[in-house]
Amino acid sequence: MTSAPGPLTIGVLALQGAYDAHARTLTALGAIPRLVRVPQELNGLDGLIMPGGESTTMLKFLDRNGFFEVLQSYVKSTPTFGTCAGAILLATHVESPTQRSLGALDITVERNAYGRQIDSTILTAETVLPGGPLEMVFIRAPRIRLTGPGVETLATRDGFPTLVRSGHLLAATFHPELSHDSRVHQLFLDTVRQHKSAL
Ligand code: GLN
Repeated sequence: MTSAPGPLTIGVLALQGAYDAHARTLTALGAIPRLVRVPQELNGLDGLIMPGGESTTMLKFLDRNGFFEVLQSYVKSTPTFGTCAGAILLATHVESPTQRSLGALDITVERNAYGRQIDSTILTAETVLPGGPLEMVFIRAPRIRLTGPGVETLATRDGFPTLVRSGHLLAATFHPELSHDSRVHQLFLDTVRQHKSAL
């Protein structure tokens, strides 16, 4: 790591969904958030957060201006954190129903996997992150059914991964931006910092 590093500039995909709360958490952690609505706004960022929302709707917006293709190559090399719908976009395989995705993170996700009754819930569970159990806010959450080699599981729900990391990519099936606990965003910023100093 370089000495006296400046603040990181992190894009938050702002086509639809829960992007504001991510921007607030990033500011609280000393990073500079930038809302990203068109492909050109990806230029000059240190990393990107793709928020929760509705992945099918996001895909429709991404069909404009060739944004899908630009994002597909962007996430291959730039640290990116997908939460909930954002995790669905990052996945290599999407089920129930099958859906197009960026195919960057080797996971299989099942959309809306927790059924209607309990599709939105708050749980506190063990995590390998230092600092004790982690609060996880699930909203019509997907389930990570399979992880490929090289994908590390950092937290789980009923034995299924809820927070995973693979190299420069991080994905959560819950909404860390809606909890007061900022460890998951901090983990992402640490990943971005490491990536930057390795360039
Ligand atoms: N159910 C949404 C989807 O399938 C994800 C929900 C969320 O992002 N909170 O895209």
